[in-house]
Amino acid sequence: MRRKLVVGNWKMNGGRVANAELLAALKEAEPWDAAVAVCAPFPYLADTALSLQGSRMQWGAQDCSAHESGAYTGEVSAGMLAEFGCHFVIVGHSERRALHGESDQLVADKAKIALAHKLTPIVCVGETLAEREAGQTDAVVKRQLSAVIHTLGHCISQVVVAYEPVWAIGTGKTATPEQAQAVHAVLRAQLHAATEKSAEMLILYGGSVKADNAKQLFAQGDIDGGLIGGASLKAADFAAICKAA
Ligand code: PEP
Repeated sequence: MRRKLVVGNWKMNGGRVANAELLAALKEAEPWDAAVAVCAPFPYLADTALSLQGSRMQWGAQDCSAHESGAYTGEVSAGMLAEFGCHFVIVGHSERRALHGESDQLVADKAKIALAHKLTPIVCVGETLAEREAGQTDAVVKRQLSAVIHTLGHCISQVVVAYEPVWAIGTGKTATPEQAQAVHAVLRAQLHAATEKSAEMLILYGGSVKADNAKQLFAQGDIDGGLIGGASLKAADFAAICKAA
């Protein structure tokens, strides 16, 4: 039995006061059966760690460099994230792939360096609307995951995978539970071929998850929780999603 995981992706939102209020309200709403984490912008990691003292919630970041250290202005290394107590790091979010040109291989390299620093990478995969309409969904997500499998080898069992259809992110258009489950099953089968631990691995769904659709999504056999964007910014909404998991 896999324990559900719900992760909030704050993206480039929040501020010191708003974050403290949000986390205080979430602490009030704990505990949940699911494991819960928030991925904060880099400058707020130290505050987040402080705010979450005494909580079961974990925290993480939204990206990391594929490099260990050096002349990479503006980048943040996995080692730095580990130093700030991060448990998770999101890699390959569709906004990074689309807006920053991140390739499948770069995403895989980020996952690898994250693992080397004992962080759990949350590897995002997902198709665009055009790709879905062209019948390419399975091929796209398999190609994206395949790069990570080849780069990590048997360590693939240590990552969390997040299926996030690009057309559902921040749009209010959620994949139906059946649509999401179908892709999760494809990903689980691909993981099964790569590791004997595939049945223990978590595959999250992300894309306009809200309090009112979370339960149905999380009830699907291969959906092990959610990666939550917009709804993770409001304590009541995020707490309700955590409760649904
Ligand atoms: C995300 O950005 O990972 C996400 C799932 O966003 P939203 O929940 O707002 O669609």
